[in-house]
Amino acid sequence: MRKEAYLVRPLSKGAVQCRTCEHFCALKPGETGICGVHRNIGGTLYLVVYGEAIAVHVDPIEKKPLFHFLPRAGALSIGTYGCNFRCPFCQNWQMSQERDFDDTRAYLGQRATPEVLVDTCLREHIPIIAYTYNEPTVFFEYTYDTAKLAHEHGIKNVYVSNGFMSREAIDMLAPYLDGINVDLKAFTPEFYREQCGGRLEPVKRNIAYIAQETDIWIEITTLLIPGLNDSAAELRAMAEWLASVDRDMPWHVTAFHPDYKMHDRPRTGPRSLSRAYEAGKEAGLRYVYVGNVPDADRESTYCPECGQRLISRQWYYVEELWRERGVCPRCGTAIAGVWE
Ligand code: SF4
Repeated sequence: MRKEAYLVRPLSKGAVQCRTCEHFCALKPGETGICGVHRNIGGTLYLVVYGEAIAVHVDPIEKKPLFHFLPRAGALSIGTYGCNFRCPFCQNWQMSQERDFDDTRAYLGQRATPEVLVDTCLREHIPIIAYTYNEPTVFFEYTYDTAKLAHEHGIKNVYVSNGFMSREAIDMLAPYLDGINVDLKAFTPEFYREQCGGRLEPVKRNIAYIAQETDIWIEITTLLIPGLNDSAAELRAMAEWLASVDRDMPWHVTAFHPDYKMHDRPRTGPRSLSRAYEAGKEAGLRYVYVGNVPDADRESTYCPECGQRLISRQWYYVEELWRERGVCPRCGTAIAGVWE
């Protein structure tokens, strides 16, 4: 289903500029953006996957990962086709990199309009909608309409994103977006240019903006790819920068496994995970988590002041959850997050 795009600037001779993400694609009639899902049709820019979820699942919120956001809650998780990055290690590449679809068909995936999604949450008592699996910025209009309607019914919204959206997109969505996990994929411009087809600086700028200037709860994830982004120097620089933005931002350092086009690298080993974990702690980040491997100690949440264990996790499952959410029961320290 098509929907006219929201963030557009007209250019000459029927061309338009899409203002949704930092690519700012200029598109002549008939052209499609880098994401594969915004298209100039006869001088008007459309999102061509509106209301069509290729994947719909109820996941634990911990799986996004968001560890300081309504623990144990279920999230109705949706994704479509398309992405504005080209990462060769993508774990959802069948959705994100698909370009060969026929958008003239009535429905590409499941018919899942904003009304259908919100009705499902209300009927099944699901408190969160997560826009995830592929980059939600590229199906912005669908997420915006759904998030707005969801808020009218008391349902929260979260993005799982590469952080490459435009400032206009953040500002338009911010009143309806409650949480976000942003991938900080590496800390060099070369990695972003060569591996992702993107740029590091807008991602850093957006992380700082969201953390410091909006009410959106933010957590960060870095997938550690052996030999590509896991040197001690790079991890230290990344951790120190994150701490300079906000020491309360949780940082998830997660293990890579070979996927899509990247099969020439081994799985992330325990030394690399420990290096990142320690870099985060030494930089002063209060909440650092290891992910994609069983590591109950470093998947759990502790009071940053007295060390009291507050949430025990195994993989994405919460085994124990402290009752006085938001405050350490032993020393009274405030624990940052969205707890109810
Ligand atoms: S969402 Fe980004 S990649 Fe897609 S058309 Fe708009 S600016 Fe280009």
